[in-house]
Amino acid sequence: MSIEKAAVMSYDPENIFAKIIRAKAPAHRVYEDDWTVAFMDLMPQADGHTLIVPKHEARDLLDAEPYVLGKTIQTTQKVARAVKVAFSADGVMVAQLSGAAAGQTVFHLHFHVLPRYDGVDLRFHGKEVAPAEVLAEHAERVREALRAQSD
Ligand code: AMP
Repeated sequence: MSIEKAAVMSYDPENIFAKIIRAKAPAHRVYEDDWTVAFMDLMPQADGHTLIVPKHEARDLLDAEPYVLGKTIQTTQKVARAVKVAFSADGVMVAQLSGAAAGQTVFHLHFHVLPRYDGVDLRFHGKEVAPAEVLAEHAERVREALRAQSD
């Protein structure tokens, strides 16, 4: 890879998810530990659409350290279980987009957790911002399901 291309592909510490991790931008957070943060997607493709990010800097799946991926997928599983219960879903879709050509729009590694229902399509990707009060209520449902997991 050329030096120019490598520079273009470098991690931007001012991306929106990095700011959310540092609590410099608002988000409806549902979970945090030493390694990861989870929060509601601002433009949910389904009610309960949640994102899980590592605190480490990584643009996507391809440049993340394996131990960072391990921690992040553990949180993804925990959140996916909670979202399935909180939204009475038939199934859960976990998605990860690496690179603009794959549809990635925020260049800090993240996993999408989406509740799925038999015969129901997802809404469009990153199109419509949900009202803050709706996201707040959905976040509380996920938090409650996470609390129930640890009881
Ligand atoms: P991707 O296209 O895989 O990079 O997904 C980025 C996701 O981030 C999209 O689903 C957006 O709706 C979501 N998103 C963008 N900005 C924010 C934000 N400030 N807070 C929460 N989610 C966001």
